[in-house]
Amino acid sequence: MTATRRPLIAGNWKMNGLTKDGQTLAEGLAAKMKGADTVAFDMLVSPPFTLIGAVGTAIAGSGIALGAQDCHTAEKGAHTGDISAVMLKDAGCSHVIVGHSERRTDHGETDALVLAKAEAAHAQGLIAVVCIGETEAERDAGKTLDVNAAQIAGSVPAGATAANTVVAYEPVWAIGTGRTPTLDEIQEVHAFIRGEVARKLGQNEADGMRLLYGGSMKPGNAGEILPLADVDGGLIGGASLTIEDFWGIASAV
Ligand code: PEP
Repeated sequence: MTATRRPLIAGNWKMNGLTKDGQTLAEGLAAKMKGADTVAFDMLVSPPFTLIGAVGTAIAGSGIALGAQDCHTAEKGAHTGDISAVMLKDAGCSHVIVGHSERRTDHGETDALVLAKAEAAHAQGLIAVVCIGETEAERDAGKTLDVNAAQIAGSVPAGATAANTVVAYEPVWAIGTGRTPTLDEIQEVHAFIRGEVARKLGQNEADGMRLLYGGSMKPGNAGEILPLADVDGGLIGGASLTIEDFWGIASAV
């Protein structure tokens, strides 16, 4: 973290929560934000599509940003089951996660598709949270940096800026497993990613762009991970589902 990049604590609720759960969680976080003396971070929650309206109402006026977990590349049309960036904006979202490893795996999303989704988000003025990260096999094969470089090259639009894009480094093998890279490994990959962003977008954008770490972040390890020089916040899955854990991570900033 540096003084120039305000940390972002982002929750990815994945396919979890019915209306009451989402409202309770969102209202609880909003109350924490409103009750805090000073807040040294930005907070984002990304509920499933079905809860975006209810959560948006619950967090109104709290300063918490509203995001979604995916968008289609097109604005509208014959795409059964999909949601467009225009619709997300209309529903009150300011952010959308694209390229999460679960979508890359479950839905065969390629770097090119992720890039197109990020562009669709940008076209609507949404901030794209672009996820990248290596699998365990790739790490074991010594390909961590190559894989992340290729994903930056392929998934981040040429028109990305520090204002419209956040990159989330999420080692696939750390997601939901309780395992994390060492602090040195996290910092090494983040510094490398910032260098790749600089090569692609220029040093100014790289210096301003927030790079989130994701993968089994909890209140117990956030205090060590968040202060790393090139870590500018977290993308949090499981621990974003309770007020205590998510606020506990945010409080570590
Ligand atoms: C995620 O899926 O974005 C994630 C980081 O999950 P978890 O925190 O549960 O590992």
